[in-house]
Amino acid sequence: MSKTFAELGLPEPILQALAACGYTTPTPIQEQAIPELLAGRDLIGAAQTGTGKTAAFALPTLAHLVTAEGTLPRCLVLTPTRELAMQVEENFKKYGTHAGLRICLLYGGVGYGAQTEQLRKGVDVVVATPGRLLDLWEKGFLKLDQVRHLILDEVDRMLDMGFIEDVSRIINICPKKRQTLLFSATADESIARIAKWALTDPVRVDVRTGRTAADTVDHCLYPVDSYQKYDLLMALLQKLDFKSVIVFTRTKRDADRITEWVQSGGHAVATMHADRSQSERFEALQGFKSGKYPVLVATDVAARGLDVRGVTHVINYNVPEHAEDYVHRIGRTGRANTEGEAVTLYSPDELHSLKAIEQLLGKTIERRKLDTFKYRFEPDMGATKSAAPAARRRNR
Ligand code: AMP
Repeated sequence: MSKTFAELGLPEPILQALAACGYTTPTPIQEQAIPELLAGRDLIGAAQTGTGKTAAFALPTLAHLVTAEGTLPRCLVLTPTRELAMQVEENFKKYGTHAGLRICLLYGGVGYGAQTEQLRKGVDVVVATPGRLLDLWEKGFLKLDQVRHLILDEVDRMLDMGFIEDVSRIINICPKKRQTLLFSATADESIARIAKWALTDPVRVDVRTGRTAADTVDHCLYPVDSYQKYDLLMALLQKLDFKSVIVFTRTKRDADRITEWVQSGGHAVATMHADRSQSERFEALQGFKSGKYPVLVATDVAARGLDVRGVTHVINYNVPEHAEDYVHRIGRTGRANTEGEAVTLYSPDELHSLKAIEQLLGKTIERRKLDTFKYRFEPDMGATKSAAPAARRRNR
């Protein structure tokens, strides 16, 4: 029998906010992490988005902070992307409605004015991407002397995206006397190295199930000649009974081109990639979440870590270049036990990337053929050679 939020020791104002959110039962990571964090322990959390990890770190941290105090932030949350930063900030605001705390969001690609103005007025919690945070710190708009709670979210992604130096620098700027939380979906050597010097005697909470999305989501390949990828994409959009679909592309240019095509095919579509302005990305995401745009075309970088519920389908227009992105992308669908389907368009020039994915999965991915589609060349339905099970290791 799982505990209630009150039994985990959370204070009244936070319990009120949780009731308003409609949360009745803590998720496993919340049940395990909250009492330890309320007791002041450092923590390493092995968890993906969708597990309730944001509340697992936000709730006890808010309980420690309780009311607004001073002008300098006492809590700093670092995230790899602006979208994730926005989600974390939203959650802090939601759970902290009755705590009277000032929460500030800092990310790059937008002007400084609103952010520095907020900092000037005083903040309790800063949620930031590493680059902009350092930028503001170097310019003297922000001091980190009072940080008592440091939360590093999706550290594996921050490392993959090349933020290791920035993140290490920020950790070093923060006072030594602090509570540090580190969350990551993987637990490899580089994560262990950071944990070793940045955390003190951490508790470990691992809520990864051992079953990857690749085991739970219906996923397959559609082999096709590269010249016919566009036609096949349109035919698949016709055939798949989707409510909401994310189409992933390798490049920003592809994302723009596919958006035009899909639009001209009569679908309402939103686009997300790094060259779109912050307000465009925000509008795209909100519109996709609300159902205004049933189709979202996105580059992988732009879509990392997003908590988009109820995505029924994922289409990879290209075979992902990095094997782990494949698992990450298909994991967008079928979340929280909903049915999901992921399809990948595969042309022979992508054999190399496909081999790497099948090696990581330890099995071949099922090939399918769309019977109603007029293929110019008979698609190759054979399995790739050398896709035999191999040691699961990070491939980048
Ligand atoms: P996260 O793993 O933090 O991205 O959270 C995934 C989703 O679960 C978010 O939309 C949260 O609002 C939601 N959530 C988190 N904790 C709970 C809970 N205890 N009960 C119901 N929903 C929750």
